[in-house]
Amino acid sequence: MSPHDANGISPLMMAGQFNLLVADAQEYAVFLVDPGGRLVCWNLGAERLFGYRTDEAVGQHFSRFFSPEDVSGGLPEHELKTARADGRSDGVRWQVRKDGSRFWCKATVTALYDEARQVHAFARVMHDLTADQEREAETRRADDLAAANRGKEEFMALLAHELRNPLSPILNALSILKQMRTGDPIIGQAGGIIERQVGQMVRLVDDLLDISRITKGKLRLTRERVELRAAMNRAADSARPLLAARRHEFSLLLPTEPLWVEGDPGRLEQVAVNLLTNAAKYTDPGGLVRMTVAREGDDAVVRVADNGVGIPPDMLPRVFDLFTQVDGALSRSHGGLGIGLALVRTLVEMHGGRVAAASGGLGKGSEFAVKLPALAGEAGREVATTLEPGERVGQPLRVLVVEDNVDAGDSLSMLLRLHGHEVLVARTGPTALAVAAAFRPSLVLLDIGLPGMDGYEVARRLRANPGLTGMTLCALTGYTPSEADRLRPQQAGFDHHFVKPVGLDTLLGLLKTPR
Ligand code: ADP
Repeated sequence: MSPHDANGISPLMMAGQFNLLVADAQEYAVFLVDPGGRLVCWNLGAERLFGYRTDEAVGQHFSRFFSPEDVSGGLPEHELKTARADGRSDGVRWQVRKDGSRFWCKATVTALYDEARQVHAFARVMHDLTADQEREAETRRADDLAAANRGKEEFMALLAHELRNPLSPILNALSILKQMRTGDPIIGQAGGIIERQVGQMVRLVDDLLDISRITKGKLRLTRERVELRAAMNRAADSARPLLAARRHEFSLLLPTEPLWVEGDPGRLEQVAVNLLTNAAKYTDPGGLVRMTVAREGDDAVVRVADNGVGIPPDMLPRVFDLFTQVDGALSRSHGGLGIGLALVRTLVEMHGGRVAAASGGLGKGSEFAVKLPALAGEAGREVATTLEPGERVGQPLRVLVVEDNVDAGDSLSMLLRLHGHEVLVARTGPTALAVAAAFRPSLVLLDIGLPGMDGYEVARRLRANPGLTGMTLCALTGYTPSEADRLRPQQAGFDHHFVKPVGLDTLLGLLKTPR
């Protein structure tokens, strides 16, 4: 190399100035090339980035750092040309290290001028974007995962709602079958199977719905004084058909004194039903299942114990995690999703309580203990019990059922007729208004999700009809209303609001005392 370049500036002088500026700045990769594109000097950052020794690089054309495609596309010359014309050139492109590996690089080329305003060199500053790219990819992956998760949650909620709809007509039809007095034991047996399986499905669908509410932070509890003996009795009643179907010997021990806690009675029942259902499922037929309710110090404690398959010690802390199953094949053969215990724990914790599992190991049975803060005892405040199933209903009523789902409407009307009521069915809002005007029902069971005119509008118009006074309006919905919608049924003029499927007991209770 000659001591002076074409412009009379010594490369050594340039290198000297360059070193003063950036030689030690290792985090930046910088080099100088002469106007022809040959490397004059570079800093430590550039040496590290490209992997050549300085003596290997100096004097080489800088196009050796470009990919063959870019070289044949004339990109190195283009960079210099642009920098010469505009003062600088920016680009993001692949660059090639000595070992042939490539990295994604942002490069800025700046023209350097001498006193005569002539370009005497170009400085090229480079930034390896690999780390940025990885960070971006990481962020994108996290965003994609979050979106996929949201999609999954939405799908779960939708699926649960869609699965729930067909359950009302099935339950209604089942109640009808059970009331057809037939001596045929096969019908009775088949009815029992349907009842248990549908019950199982209702629970699964409800668990799915609850999990999707929990993940969205939308699960709300009512807060009231709950007499735990009564709530646990109801839970036991719900679980009895399954316990009986698996021929378990079931015992329920309740304290003689009332035991009060604060919370949501339906949710506390659900906790116990889930534990009893598991005890029934994970115990071989003919086993023992015991539920005890007791006061232990300041706690109200519910224990559900079985002599079933048990839980290995390493799984004990994990059984409450979502989608966890001890033995996938066994659990799946019982139709579980691994949601039940996750719900139990969340619900118990939302009540300020805690739940624990204990087991002697595989084949040694399991015990689940739920501890809730007990309220100070208060005698004589037993909860009001609801109507017993099978109790005779009061006066025959004129009932209008408004339901667009043909099976749901028909099965409900059959059921009501079986109980001696006069029933008409309307499939749309306008028909309902016309029928109501002529039929003058004392009770209207009104589906909210009607096509065209929705149930709220129908209710408002029924209430606005001065010829229809003294009528009870009951809303039936497939959804638990959101917090924002909670008052809507009442504002539209409804007296009651039920989420489908509505149990027979609830309906009979309503028919006996509509108001
Ligand atoms: P699943 O839908 O699978 O029943 P759960 O969340 O209710 O989901 O239970 C999680 C797992 O814990 C079950 O798959 C089962 O392996 C285990 N398990 C729950 N209850 C019991 C029990 N009483 N005895 C033995 N194993 C149990």
